[in-house]
Amino acid sequence: MEASILDFWSQNQIFEKSVANRNGAPRWSFYEGPPTANGMPGTHHIEARVFKDLFPRFQTMKGKQVIRKAGWDCHGLPVEIAVEKELGFTGKADIEKFGVAEFNEKCRESVQRHVGEFTNMTKRMGFWVDFDEAYWTMSPAYIESVWWSLAQIWKKGLLVQDHRVAPYCPRCGTGLSDHELAQGYETIKDPSVFVRFKATSGKLAELEASLLVWTTTPWTLVANTAVAVNPKVEYQVIEITNEDLTERLVVAADLASVLGEDRKVLATFKGSELEHTKYTRPFDFIEIENAHYVVLADYVTVEDGTGLVHQSPAFGADDLEVCRKYNLPVVNPIEPDGHFKKEVALVGGVFFKEADKALIKDLKSRNLMFKSSQFEHSYPHCWRCHTALMYYAQPSWYIKTTSIKKDLLRENSKTDWHPETIKTGRFGDWLNNNIDWAVSRNRYWGTPLPIWRCENKHEICVSSLSELGELAGKELSKLDPHRPFVDDIKFKCKDCSSIMERTPEVIDCWYDSGAMPFAQWGYPHQVNSEKEFKAAYPADFICEAIDQTRGWFYTLMTIGTLVFDKSSYKTVLCLGHILDKDGRKMSKHLGNVLEPIPLMNQHGADAVRWYMLAAGSPWSARRVGHDAISDVVRKTLLTYWNTISFFTLYANAADFRVSSLPKDLTLMDHWILSELNKLIKGVDDALESFDSQGAGALLAAFIDDLSNWYVRRSRRRFWDGDVAALATLHECLVTLTQLLAPMVPFISEHVWQELVKVADPSAAASVHLTDFPIADTSLINLDLNAQVAMTRRVVELGRSARAESAIKIRQPLQRALISANGWSTLPSEMKEQIADELNVIDLADIADADGDLVDISVKANFKSLGAKFGKEVQDIAKAISATDATDLVKGLRKSGSAKVGTWEIDLADLVVTEVPKSGWMVASHDGESVALDLALTPELIEAGNVREVIRFIQERRKSDGFEISDRISVRWNAEQSVVAAINSAQAHISEEVLALEFVRDETLATSENDLGIEVVLAKA
Ligand SMILES: [Zn+2]
Ligand SMILES: [Zn+2]
Repeated sequence: MEASILDFWSQNQIFEKSVANRNGAPRWSFYEGPPTANGMPGTHHIEARVFKDLFPRFQTMKGKQVIRKAGWDCHGLPVEIAVEKELGFTGKADIEKFGVAEFNEKCRESVQRHVGEFTNMTKRMGFWVDFDEAYWTMSPAYIESVWWSLAQIWKKGLLVQDHRVAPYCPRCGTGLSDHELAQGYETIKDPSVFVRFKATSGKLAELEASLLVWTTTPWTLVANTAVAVNPKVEYQVIEITNEDLTERLVVAADLASVLGEDRKVLATFKGSELEHTKYTRPFDFIEIENAHYVVLADYVTVEDGTGLVHQSPAFGADDLEVCRKYNLPVVNPIEPDGHFKKEVALVGGVFFKEADKALIKDLKSRNLMFKSSQFEHSYPHCWRCHTALMYYAQPSWYIKTTSIKKDLLRENSKTDWHPETIKTGRFGDWLNNNIDWAVSRNRYWGTPLPIWRCENKHEICVSSLSELGELAGKELSKLDPHRPFVDDIKFKCKDCSSIMERTPEVIDCWYDSGAMPFAQWGYPHQVNSEKEFKAAYPADFICEAIDQTRGWFYTLMTIGTLVFDKSSYKTVLCLGHILDKDGRKMSKHLGNVLEPIPLMNQHGADAVRWYMLAAGSPWSARRVGHDAISDVVRKTLLTYWNTISFFTLYANAADFRVSSLPKDLTLMDHWILSELNKLIKGVDDALESFDSQGAGALLAAFIDDLSNWYVRRSRRRFWDGDVAALATLHECLVTLTQLLAPMVPFISEHVWQELVKVADPSAAASVHLTDFPIADTSLINLDLNAQVAMTRRVVELGRSARAESAIKIRQPLQRALISANGWSTLPSEMKEQIADELNVIDLADIADADGDLVDISVKANFKSLGAKFGKEVQDIAKAISATDATDLVKGLRKSGSAKVGTWEIDLADLVVTEVPKSGWMVASHDGESVALDLALTPELIEAGNVREVIRFIQERRKSDGFEISDRISVRWNAEQSVVAAINSAQAHISEEVLALEFVRDETLATSENDLGIEVVLAKA
């Protein structure tokens, strides 16, 4: 069915029409977060797409124009690493040997490889988005637009090169940004070492003390340059003795316990008094001149360690800042590939993380290790290649986002986040702790940084190919702006006439995707781009999974604020992650991956969509499994489908013609129309506030009301071809189909074609080209809705009492007693429905009964009484237990309050327990109860048997394949004991089963069932 709907949409260009029909209407802007198509799409890709489809479809039906441009993210480390893997490369040297042009060609091929699969999945699930006009972040027009934005930032002085210590991936050979860092934490074991640095000058030397230094990165000790103390903290020289060794160590007073219990304080110093104390460094493998003394730094804390912090300025941002103040040299013994320089003793050529072992062993052998252990902690790794990162001093280009922090916080405060907690939590925290964006990458496949420099550091940031052409004095509009071609463009500096060359870096690919609001139109270079961009900025709505708070959501808002002083989106949905049915991540390794297309082929795209949108909170992690999907489908979509089939069957039988609603509506008709109009308003409000789960719950409840109450209670009217019932149901189904359309576009389209289009050729060609229904509030009757809801609740209670009693529903009972608020004013029609549903002859209010059906016992509700009467509670409890429980509860149920002793109490002050007396079955919930009288008289048993016979013949009608309106003749036989009862009910039975003839045939063998009933049916 879904395949033919897809064909229908594409042949009739329904998506295109749905957009074109709204020409001139207000724009509702949506931005597509671009995927990278170098891998196969997964089920998690369906999740966000379901939401990205729902709201644009809804807003289109509401009269807005929603242009939906697809996009592809093409650049960056993820692509480069995948290609390196394919080619068996281990690092940048291999790429250089292979050739940058050839390598980038492979990257270009890689990101187009699975575009087909992504497109197929997207189309299969019914996500309407324009692939023909898709933007590609690697296209020259896109890159030019990114260049333009970088030039804007550069002109503001916010794009600068700086020598800083920043997260760095030694395998990829490039620095990373803070948001990339945040995406790659992994738990690992690291050493924790306490090392003695012997003091060699000042008071500490006189005391023969050693500085005790704690570190979790022993490899940085090779480059130790200084030891920092906090000038305001108190430090102690402490003498301790361990296994015959007596020694003196310096630690912060607050952390002295690291030395054990048995310790003697010899001297106390303020940190400031220790400045310039010299010491012997732990390793003297490399030359570091004029160094190795105590420096002061306010950032040193006494939270953990020893209060003395070893400084290696090449590997720590704080260290670099402190050492710069003291004019200490920055010496780096590690190559950009993460390995110690060959000439370094002991660890030359060793990868930094692997050097710890040898260094610890050496410290131990020289008796410099005070203690060492292992500990588990969360350490940053490369988000793409999983190599442990290092903090590494190197020149990088930064966007000074810290200087617009205030503006970012302002824009965030105006943003509508779903769930709301992200705004001040995860995202707000992120902005509050903002650091500058390290935007350059020492890599190959990315948007080249458009900055040219001469040897005198004159700089120009180029904003288009035509500007570059003017500078270079040649036609460059057809230049591929990627490396290595763009690197060949050189020109004379206008200030000093020396040659300007491009700075070699490319940019963070997250900048590319964050630039899509303008770059997707090629703004400002392309024809019409200004109009297109301005009409769609900022987006009314974007949606991705929650990990994007540190990815796309961040870069979108930041670039928008940097370039236009305005965030690029108003509303953002952060979805939870997709897990397998047991709550585990889906991975090839675990073999629990659900492939998207087979999943949709098995259940239907609508089923998967409905599950994602309506079952469970979109903000939490979602478990996806076959059973869970089938379950929600059975409950709702299948019920909707069956109701449609039911209508079609009876409408055809009655030759029903669609017309406006007739005047002679019943109470049931009024009720379902009231619920329908309430539903329209509810779904509209929910979807306007991006609450798909809320809309789904309302729709599911209505489908249940419609099928399991309205239709079921009106069967006889449909049977009779009642026009009011058929017209009412038709109205409900058409409107319901429109309300469902944005969520489940396939089934709703199918129904539209079969139910509406067939009957009315002038109707819209597709449900998706219709306007969203508008509620007629004059038809909403909340009192009536409440009465039917109560009726349904009482029926449910009665059914559970029936089930408990194990007496079949077909066996009539004499009476039921009901306790429910509002019972006395319930219309008699509804009371009759209850009696019929429960197969009970008389219904009465429990308050009017003799009180002989249940044993009532009561206890004081201390919580409620305590709040009212305080200390008197015990006395009241005594008084309550002395009162007749039955009278007390009856009185309270009648008048609402009663006196116990001198205290006035109400029902809430009691814990009431009702146990049915024998012969009665009681079911209660939330203050409502139903009691069934289980006594069976011969007459009741006889009536039960007649119902059994009717049911038996009805089932046989079905299995023999009679049409619903066929009249039949019946020959029957049964056990002698029930023959008289059947004969006496012959007229009633005949009427129920549409029999024109009903004759006993004693030659028929009786059957195995309770009554021995057997029948032979024939068309009359
Ligand atoms: Zn890496
Ligand atoms: Zn110059």
